[in-house]
Amino acid sequence: MYLNRLALVNFRNYAQQTLGFSAPKTILVGENAQGKSNLLEAIELLSTLRSHRTSRDRDLVRENETQGQILAEILRDSGQLDLSLTLRSRGRRTLTLNSEPQRRHLDVLGALNTVEFSSLDLDLVRGGPTERRNWLDAVLLQLEPIYAYLSQQYHHILKQRNALLKQHRREENRPLDPQQLQLWNQQLATIGAKVMQRRIRLMDRLQPLAQSWHSAISGQIEQLHLNYLPSVPWETEGPDQIYATFLDRLSQRAIAEQSQGMTLVGPHRDDVQLTINETPARQYGSQGQQRTLVLALKLAELQLIESVIGEPPVLLLDDVLAELDLKRQNQLLEAIQDRFQTIITTTHLGAFDAHWLESAEILTVSQGQ
Ligand code: ATP
Ligand code: MG
Repeated sequence: MYLNRLALVNFRNYAQQTLGFSAPKTILVGENAQGKSNLLEAIELLSTLRSHRTSRDRDLVRENETQGQILAEILRDSGQLDLSLTLRSRGRRTLTLNSEPQRRHLDVLGALNTVEFSSLDLDLVRGGPTERRNWLDAVLLQLEPIYAYLSQQYHHILKQRNALLKQHRREENRPLDPQQLQLWNQQLATIGAKVMQRRIRLMDRLQPLAQSWHSAISGQIEQLHLNYLPSVPWETEGPDQIYATFLDRLSQRAIAEQSQGMTLVGPHRDDVQLTINETPARQYGSQGQQRTLVLALKLAELQLIESVIGEPPVLLLDDVLAELDLKRQNQLLEAIQDRFQTIITTTHLGAFDAHWLESAEILTVSQGQ
């Protein structure tokens, strides 16, 4: 997959800008606040229809303008795709694919696959369990679209079951209808087991890839481990086994659930433990170690998506080199070389070796140009 051209009109601090990407590696260099991250954000928006910096389209439209646009030409093995996204400071966004208006926006997902790394992604290791679950879910969505349905169903059941528990807590003299609760338990366990099983399978696939990237960037001195921490313990991975254990666990926690008025068991309470050389990275990892770890996870994600869709996604690296020592910077740049299209931002070119500088296209970003 290759992002060949990009055009921005009234997007963030860009008035009008057209770019061609003539090499698989692009370095965007510029001082602070010039528009480097804005450019990556535009690509991210076309790929995922979301920005990790804002959920409001009016933030994305250039100040004092009512409408902004991002256009891209994408080269796929199957041919060229033209994608455009129009954002409005008031009103709904619109999308076209090969000049055809797209009513169902979700259909456009997958036209351009990207994997992005920015400092906000460090929350994956520094933040709480929600961050890690969201990441697993986002990767699963890209790999198997049916997961969206499963996850929606699970959250629906969870909401209903929580409402029942909450009502019971509020009106203490009103006994909990055991049959109704049993029904929700069965549904929660059926769908919950499927969600967990998919997450565990994903972890098994990500683990060796992430380990190998992590070892390459750290210079073979660190060993990464991903460990899924389920709220429902299981011995085997079979869905029947998880289902039975799930129901057992629900009955063990029944009193606590009733007194707290919420569901305490299920994939919505699970976590992923990340360890470096058997030490938890969240509490003990240095800044550089944590950054290396998240990079390894992102690169593993990229490789996995590549193996599923048959083409490598575009890698977007925003300020990735900060906090990495020279050795790790070199090992990272060495490892990614020409394996996939990479667009990387930096405030200075000092970290790049001669080979990178010769083979990459260098674009200077200054005041939205
Ligand atoms: P750094 O090196 O600090 O990360 P950067 O080059 O990545 O800098 P960006 O985040 O791309 O910087 O750009 C930030 C600039 O864009 C800020 O000066 C901000 O004021 C401007 N900006 C953001 N949104 C808008 C908007 N809607 N309209 C006009 N300008 C905007
Ligand atoms: Mg930036």
